[in-house]
Amino acid sequence: MENLPNCPKCNSEYTYEDGSLLVCPECSHEWSLESGNEEVNVIKDANGNVLNDGDAVTVIKDLKVKGSSSSIKIGTKVKSIRLVPDAADGHDIECKIDGFGAMKLKSSVVKKA
Ligand SMILES: [Zn+2]
Repeated sequence: MENLPNCPKCNSEYTYEDGSLLVCPECSHEWSLESGNEEVNVIKDANGNVLNDGDAVTVIKDLKVKGSSSSIKIGTKVKSIRLVPDAADGHDIECKIDGFGAMKLKSSVVKKA
């Protein structure tokens, strides 16, 4: 099974392919997978604000870190995020966090600072 991206509008996972378009059955949004289509790359924070490369965000819940005894605390500020729109595992933000180094986060656990 091909792994289709979630709907960029409502984040539904029930998207399907219709020719060269992807279709969301939940909000009827149609979009193209072709690169250069800005809408494909829309990633939103927990409040629904659109995130951009270079944005600063705040972590909204404590996050356990694999291989570390400490966790990323709620309220941690993260500068200069990099978006990964096609992240298969849902970790669509790459960033560096003081004390942890390079990390991947889900956009659902941050809000725009
Ligand atoms: Zn949708």
